[in-house]
Amino acid sequence: MKQFPKRTIAHCSTVLSLLIASNAFAQTGLPAYDLLLHQGHVIDARNHIDSVMDVAIKDGKVAKVAEHIPSTDALKTIDAKGLYVTPGLIDLHVHVYSGTGERNSYAGDNSVPPDGFTFRVGVTTVVDAGCSGWKNFEDFKQRIIDRSKTRVLAMLNIVGSGMRGDKYEQNIADMDGEATAQMALKYPQTVVGIKTAHFGGPEWTPVEQAVIAGTKANIPVMVDFGTDRPTRPLYDLLTKKLRPGDIYTHMYSGLRQEQDPTTLGPSKAFIEGRKRGVYFDAGTGGGSFKWSLAVPMVKDGFIPDSISTDLHIGSMNGATKDALNVASKMMAIGLSLQEIIAEMTSHPAHEIKREDLGNLSQGSVADIAVLRVEKGHYGFTDMQNTRVDGTEKLVAELTIKDGKIVYDLNGMEAKLWNEPLDPNAKYASRWTTFAPRPPDTHNTPGKEMPH
Ligand SMILES: [Zn+2]
Repeated sequence: MKQFPKRTIAHCSTVLSLLIASNAFAQTGLPAYDLLLHQGHVIDARNHIDSVMDVAIKDGKVAKVAEHIPSTDALKTIDAKGLYVTPGLIDLHVHVYSGTGERNSYAGDNSVPPDGFTFRVGVTTVVDAGCSGWKNFEDFKQRIIDRSKTRVLAMLNIVGSGMRGDKYEQNIADMDGEATAQMALKYPQTVVGIKTAHFGGPEWTPVEQAVIAGTKANIPVMVDFGTDRPTRPLYDLLTKKLRPGDIYTHMYSGLRQEQDPTTLGPSKAFIEGRKRGVYFDAGTGGGSFKWSLAVPMVKDGFIPDSISTDLHIGSMNGATKDALNVASKMMAIGLSLQEIIAEMTSHPAHEIKREDLGNLSQGSVADIAVLRVEKGHYGFTDMQNTRVDGTEKLVAELTIKDGKIVYDLNGMEAKLWNEPLDPNAKYASRWTTFAPRPPDTHNTPGKEMPH
């Protein structure tokens, strides 16, 4: 053991000198691509691709998708045969404003730190659904958004103080569409929507103020419609109050007239809302998903526009668990893998007007999930603890964010410990985060990162 530190130092200095040498080199001699995903089944709904393809990445961007790209054109090639290669998944409804220390609050203890729940299930982008309002968004930004490896976007709560419990969320005086729009417009790269949630009163105020904010900032409104009230019927919300392009979340909760009591399919409100262009989001959460709705509504063809989790401390270990568990649930009741991938990539990107995300177009940011469909016997539960059985489950083998591997379940990119080093090992930091890097490439503290 006494020798160990010495050896480590010697090894480090070798690596360091290699890295310094590589930096000094003009990079003209390098292959065209940094990373090549070889022969995976690519599903890219935006570009109508659903076949075996090679995907090449360079400088953090998708450089080429084609039937055959020679591996000599890339520094590193990974064999993806038998796996699905998709754009990095987008979870449109999560709660990640953790770390403030506030109890019983989604701007605190009820939220989860994003990086612990994302890359391991192929998710590269999450949208925080209203944990912060215009008054505390900047605290959320500096505390979580700017420090996470996951791309964290946000919908501002129409309540200025955010999702901090009834004392705040039932206070109509703190719902200011104008002030909310101003904060959204200050951070157009990060704020992608307005959220109204949990309201119990008879008034339309939260929805109306949210629509004012959404209209001024040109972003969608997402509605968790709170308590079902006869003064504000779901039909009016979906046919009059919301705009086409706004989003109704918790679509299979059954808490607010979502289901037609006779047919068990979608209610008239849902059918008319969809015709008008309102989007419907899963947001399964802790108490917002019932098989007794999902099964007949999917059978009737009323499938989600976007599949999201509503991840928080009450759903992470419950029926929801994570994005791929929710996706597998939807497969168990008849959605195709192609539909699911669209609903977790290009669809949510479109809903939040971020067409730059959720696709593998040439030049797009290289956020990629490599997924395996496992076969076996699986059980999927809902908020009432009833179960649907399934035979397929999605698992993330590899997740790539901004062109670099950030998660690798079974070490697909790694060499065996007793094999010779990868000949391009000195360039490994071009394709993976699991590589030594020179000390001068650390992020500058305080620098604003694009999201
Ligand atoms: Zn939620």
